[in-house]
Amino acid sequence: MKNELLRNLPKMDLLINDQKVKNLIGIFGRESILKELRETLDFYRRAILNEEKDSVPTIEEIRGKVENKLSIKKEPSIKRVINATGIVIHTNLGRSLLSENSIKAMINVARGYSNLEYNLKDGKRGSRHDHISNILKELTGAEDAVVVNNNAAAVMLVLNELSKNKEVIVSRGELVEIGGSFRVPEIMELSGSFLKEVGTTNRTHLSDYENAIGDNTSLLLKVHSSNFKIIGFTKEVSSEELASLGKKHNIITMEDLGSGILVDLSEEGFSESKTVMDVVKSGIDIITFSGDKLLGGPQAGIIVGKKEYIERLKKNQLMRALRVDKITLAALEATLMEYLNKESVMKEIPTLNMISLTKEELKKKALELKSMLDSIELDYSFSISENTSFVGGGSMPGEEITSYVIEIVSKSLEANEIEKSLREYKTPIISRINKGKVLLDVRTIKEDEYETILKALEERINK
Ligand SMILES: *Cc1c(COP(=O)(O)O)cnc(C)c1O
Repeated sequence: MKNELLRNLPKMDLLINDQKVKNLIGIFGRESILKELRETLDFYRRAILNEEKDSVPTIEEIRGKVENKLSIKKEPSIKRVINATGIVIHTNLGRSLLSENSIKAMINVARGYSNLEYNLKDGKRGSRHDHISNILKELTGAEDAVVVNNNAAAVMLVLNELSKNKEVIVSRGELVEIGGSFRVPEIMELSGSFLKEVGTTNRTHLSDYENAIGDNTSLLLKVHSSNFKIIGFTKEVSSEELASLGKKHNIITMEDLGSGILVDLSEEGFSESKTVMDVVKSGIDIITFSGDKLLGGPQAGIIVGKKEYIERLKKNQLMRALRVDKITLAALEATLMEYLNKESVMKEIPTLNMISLTKEELKKKALELKSMLDSIELDYSFSISENTSFVGGGSMPGEEITSYVIEIVSKSLEANEIEKSLREYKTPIISRINKGKVLLDVRTIKEDEYETILKALEERINK
C-alpha cells in the first residue's frame, strides 16, 4: 500500500513540464521552484511513510503548496502600515512621513546617477556636504551646517571632535534617555569625553555651571528634555545665559535640541515654541537636532553652528562612518526647501500638517470614516468621541492635543481580537484599546486609508 502510494507520487519531470508550474518558474526562478518541489515531495513521502497521508497528492496540491511558500518568502518584511494611534512622530512606526516633493527627489537620485560628490561647475570632485549647507544656513541663520546619519551620531561626532579626553558640563536635569537607546552619559563615554554633572534634578543655576568650570573643561552642553517634563519648583539655565557664560570663559557651548523646529509653533497653539533660529540667535556655538522629528524629513542628524567647528567636524575620521547617503540628502534638501514658502509649509510637510489639524478638520475626518464604516453589517457598532493625541518622538513632552477617535465595539469579537486582526491585516492597521473598545485616532489616518480599514474589519467578521 505505502509502496504503491510512493510509486505514484508525481515525478519531477512531470511537475516541471506542467504549464502552471512553468509560469511559476517565470515568476520565482527555476532554482527556487526545483528546491521547493523537492522539499514538498519529501514532505509527502514522509507523510505517507508515517501513515499521516493515505492518498497521492495531485499536481495542483503540490503546486499550491510551492506557490504559497514562495509567496510568503517574497512578502517584504518592512511594509506600509496604517497609523491609527494618533501619535504623529511614532518612532516605532517610522517617525515622519515625507512630503511629495521629498519623495520625488529620492526617486530621482535613486533612478539615475547624481552629482553627489561631483562639482558641476569645475568638473572636479566635490563634497556631499555642500548640497545641504547653504539652505540650512539660510533657514537657521547659522554660519555653517553639516548632516550625519541621525541626531545621536551628531551628538557623538561633536563631542568626539571638540571634547575628546576633556570635560563636558551638563545639568543633572538634562541627563536624558530617549527611547531606551540614546543616553547622554553613554554617548558621552563613547565619544571619549568626560561627563561632569551639575545642579540637581529639578534646579540648575548658572553659578552651578560656572563653579564647575576647570582647566580641563571644553564644553557646556544643554540637552532638551525631550520625553519628560519636570514640573513644579524648577530652574534651568537659558540658552542665552549659557552662551554668555561660555564666551566669558572661552568655552564652547552646545545645545542638543532633539526635535528641532524651523517654524514658530506657538502660532498653532503649542506652548513649546523655541526654534532652531532662536537658539542660533542666543549665541550657542553648536546645535544638533533630528531630521525626522518635527522637521518632518528623513532620518538624519543636523548640526548647525560656528564655521570653525563645523569645518573640524567634516575632517573627523568618524564622519566617514556617520555620513548620509544620496537618498537622505535628496529627501532632506527637498524637505528644507518646503520651508522657503512660509504659506505652504504647514500643509506640505505631513508631520506639521497632522499636528496642526483643527478640531473641526478632525471631526470632519471622523464623520467621514464613520459613515463609511457604518456600511458594514450589524455586528460592529461605531461611535465618535473626543480624545487625546500626542506629537510623539520626544517632541512637546506633556503636551496633549485634542483629537477625535472612532470607537469600535463588536457583538461577536473582543476588543483584543479586533485589535489583533487589524494589526495582522495585509496592510497592518495599528490601533489601541481603551476600556474594552478599539480606538482609531483619525489625526494620523489618511483619507485614502479609510477603505483599507473598512475592508479589514469586513473580512474579519466574514471569516
Ligand atoms: C530624539 C533625540 C535624540 C536622538 O535623535 P535620533 O535622531 O533619534 O538619533 C537625541 N537627543 C534628544 C534631545 C532627542 O530628543
